[in-house]
Amino acid sequence: MNYLEKRILKDGIALNSDVLKVDSFLNHQVDPKLMEWIGDQFYQYFAEYEIDKVVTIESSGISPALFTAYFLNVPLLVLKKQNSVLQSNVYSTTVHSFTKGNDYNLTCSKDYIKEGENILIIDDFLANGEASLGACRIVEMANANVCGVGICIEKSYQPGREKLDNLELRVYSLARIESLEKGKIKILEKI
Ligand code: 5GP
Repeated sequence: MNYLEKRILKDGIALNSDVLKVDSFLNHQVDPKLMEWIGDQFYQYFAEYEIDKVVTIESSGISPALFTAYFLNVPLLVLKKQNSVLQSNVYSTTVHSFTKGNDYNLTCSKDYIKEGENILIIDDFLANGEASLGACRIVEMANANVCGVGICIEKSYQPGREKLDNLELRVYSLARIESLEKGKIKILEKI
């Protein structure tokens, strides 16, 4: 069992069968040593793909994405959740929020993704895949390439992983959750 998996079992809380609370170490209070380890894991996995930029979604993807960008020695670009699309010079796409249940506009200045760039998308969770797919759409609007998607915690029983696999995206998840039934966190065994 890896560092993140052990931490999830120690400090994660299954709020219900769909939502894992990790706000003591990942997305509210943040453990920098764990983020450093996560960044290094993504660096080791994706280093061979000549990544030009790491892209994440505000706000909970920022901590792991920043360490990943640091190790890859490339900039980090944070996609913004905006209420209004009435802005010029931005790429924008609508995303359905897993945790809030509403739609938001994901936006990015056209200045910061260039045609042909190799992009690595990093996010904290993969559930239905809406956030990651929204980020992919933004990258595609800029005619850049999604070289991979790095996920800290994938809930493998939800549809996101299959959606990304069906698009033949290169997905690397550091912890895969099999279920959160009755308050018990089950980690998917590696084969
Ligand atoms: P998706 O777009 O894949 O359905 O959901 C991914 C986004 O929803 C992530 O960026 C994350 O912020 C949030 N999310 C999804 N599932 C969980 C969860 O179990 N716990 C927490 N804390 N956030 C989640």
